[in-house]
Amino acid sequence: MPSVIINDSFIEWPGHVSCVLFWGGCNVTCPYCHNVDLNAQPPIQKQEFKERFDRVAPYVDGVVFTGGEALLHDMRDVIALVDEKKLKKKIHTNGSIRADEVLEKFDCVAMDFKCINRKDWDAFGWSEEYQINNRRLLEQIYFRPESEIHVTVTHRWLCMEQYEHMLALLKPQTRLILQRCHPVRSEDDEVFKLVAEMASFHPNLSIR
Ligand code: SF4
Repeated sequence: MPSVIINDSFIEWPGHVSCVLFWGGCNVTCPYCHNVDLNAQPPIQKQEFKERFDRVAPYVDGVVFTGGEALLHDMRDVIALVDEKKLKKKIHTNGSIRADEVLEKFDCVAMDFKCINRKDWDAFGWSEEYQINNRRLLEQIYFRPESEIHVTVTHRWLCMEQYEHMLALLKPQTRLILQRCHPVRSEDDEVFKLVAEMASFHPNLSIR
């Protein structure tokens, strides 16, 4: 079961009013993670979740599964509840876990694209397997009707050259979301402006 329910959000899934389900725990250790406290929260009891979700469902048109890493969990019961209500589903994943069958159940897949160099994988706690899965999902996402690639920008862990390489791999049909690392520092903001300029060629760019 998820650890946190946000009843309604207008930003997690643009174009939708969505209920956001936060699943605790993650298999990687991004140095800029601002969900560490949320990750440690225990799951909500199944009955309590059901009651709360029943109250929220009539007011939203979509449900966003996020974390942490939601794919670490058995989400079948919750997916079934969401399907019963005939709501659309989006999942946000770090892309490290190969889970094609689960991802097929979602209308929209949002994937974090974190880095591509070997030395940087280590800083993010990524194994070679995680990196291979991430690149594989990146390729698959191009063929999905709705998908997003999220890139978090900070000068503290990645250099401009990395961002240049990462952006060059993205295809125009995918929605690209550039997001600031939190907390925002002035030097990060400078790098963010440069990366945003570099990404401005992308026809489907959103800035957060
Ligand atoms: S993948 Fe997300 S939740 Fe996991 S450590 Fe990185 S930023 Fe935090």
